[in-house]
Amino acid sequence: MRSTSGPLPAKLAHPLPPAELWTSSDSPLDLETITDAIEGGRPLSYVLDQVVERACVLLNVHETYVLLREGDLLVGAAQRGLAAENPQDIRLPMDAGIEGWVAVHRRPLAVKNPQQEPRFHQLPQRQHAVESQIVVPLEAQGRVLGVLVVSDGEKTDFSGDLMLLLVLADLATLAIESSRNRGREVRRARLVDLLRYVTTVDYGSDIKKAVEPVADRIAEVLEVEKTDIMFFDPERDALVSLGVSSTPLGNKQRELGLDIVPSSAQSLVYNVYLTGRSEIVEDARYDHRVYRPFVTELGIRSMLITQLTVAGQSRGILAVTDTRPGIFSTDDLAVLDLIGRRVSLALEQIELTEDMSRLEAERLERIERDNFLELLAHDIKNPLAALKGYAQLAGRRLETGDSAYAARALGVINEKADQLTRLMNDMLELTRLAAGTFSIQRGDVDLAVLLRNELDAVETTTTQHSLTYEGPNSLPMRGDRDRLSEVVQNLLSNAIRYSPSGGPVKVSLTTDDVQASIAVCDGGVGIAPEDMPRIFERAYRGQGERVAGGRGLGLYISREIVRLHAGRIWAEPAPDGTGSCFHVVLPLQTAT
Ligand code: ADP
Repeated sequence: MRSTSGPLPAKLAHPLPPAELWTSSDSPLDLETITDAIEGGRPLSYVLDQVVERACVLLNVHETYVLLREGDLLVGAAQRGLAAENPQDIRLPMDAGIEGWVAVHRRPLAVKNPQQEPRFHQLPQRQHAVESQIVVPLEAQGRVLGVLVVSDGEKTDFSGDLMLLLVLADLATLAIESSRNRGREVRRARLVDLLRYVTTVDYGSDIKKAVEPVADRIAEVLEVEKTDIMFFDPERDALVSLGVSSTPLGNKQRELGLDIVPSSAQSLVYNVYLTGRSEIVEDARYDHRVYRPFVTELGIRSMLITQLTVAGQSRGILAVTDTRPGIFSTDDLAVLDLIGRRVSLALEQIELTEDMSRLEAERLERIERDNFLELLAHDIKNPLAALKGYAQLAGRRLETGDSAYAARALGVINEKADQLTRLMNDMLELTRLAAGTFSIQRGDVDLAVLLRNELDAVETTTTQHSLTYEGPNSLPMRGDRDRLSEVVQNLLSNAIRYSPSGGPVKVSLTTDDVQASIAVCDGGVGIAPEDMPRIFERAYRGQGERVAGGRGLGLYISREIVRLHAGRIWAEPAPDGTGSCFHVVLPLQTAT
């Protein structure tokens, strides 16, 4: 009998329980049910429950529990005799209690009179006074997985039971190991799935959209609280998150604006980006290379970081993080490296496609621009030539005194000058559109009044067409009056120009109080089906153009104006088969 407390001899590992403890299942020792449960792959909680149950019965004690190491905590996994609904409610820091001492020193410790023992820790769930306690480490391959604790309300001498306790501890260790192995297998299978996913996911061309689901999936499979895919942005001289998992921790990071890490912070992520050396952080509190706001504001403790390279160049990092300390091993780092390489490959693929489509778009744009400039040059040259010709003619006729002819020539000059002005205005609008500075200024507009005014103006230019308006007398909305007039002018002038033999031009306006619908229908040449999808393109002239010499800009500009008003514009053949109808739908937005 030992009356003093003190360390017991270091535990010898028992690969199998000693023969005398192996008994038939009806014996009170009955360890076979436990080994059967382990071999049968029963859940860890079940096996540990059996272990604590056996310990209580065999040692005839009040209280037995198993604590498992989770980072720098010991967390309950099974218990008897404590008032804990869920064993996981029992939590102790690694440096507290006899439990902590045993876990750190990896030696069993028996204590009599624990109340006088400074290392003793009183658990809030405890129901009885404790007079004696023995704590045995659960260890495998030199690592402490947890502790098995037996306490009693009497001054029990546990030395005679040590062997039995060590056997129970071995069984608990075996159970933990085999459950972790099973977990590893499951994880490996999920990992293979993840790698397949990372490789085959449809990345499209938008990197940001593509990497976010990947970040989510990595967080899910690796069971971590956050994944970051960060790229170095030379303009901001910072690593910027392209994809953060939409986990609670990821969302918090976004809210706090912590998805940018400046290079000046000289942080670990930046280091990995520069050097390509993957890093593992056990506890960021004590690792000052970790970007401080990650630790102080997000509470990050564990991190794994690996580099992302595209076409052999470092471009950023992939990191997984968690608020629990010490959850990653070097095995996990190898896994992350593998994922990082796959993500890098995928990014390379996106950039290649992006590059190609950008080049292709630039090429098309150049062709279009060249053609367009050529068209414009013609457009300017023709009226200019006419201007010059008529001016010379007018001069000569004035010399000969034919003022009537000179007046007609001046009329044409006037018309051509107007045409050139319109062309210049269109060009100006086009430049603004190209530069992205084309904008609208909203004000109060009465759409019904605007339509009738434009109709009246057009009416004075034609005698062949009959213009009609059907709709309310007033329809207030918010919009840019001048720009909307421009749209209506374009549609009306097209309706007139593309019905050279005259006929009806019908304008109608309807509303459902949310939006206004304008229709401009003519009985003219109509739009060829092959032209229909293209007439709103810049500088596209359809077959009808043969009758009306346009520049293919009016509808393009009109569509941009309508778009800036959050509306829609489209064309269709007139319902009666001759001519075409143009429709414009605009939100009224009178409340804003
Ligand atoms: P354009 O200056 O060539 O008229 P638009 O952009 O206004 O330029 O129109 C583009 C093309 O759409 C025209 O070339 C023509 O083929 C077709 N189009 C536009 N309005 C009508 C219409 N009312 N009837 C028939 N075709 C039309």
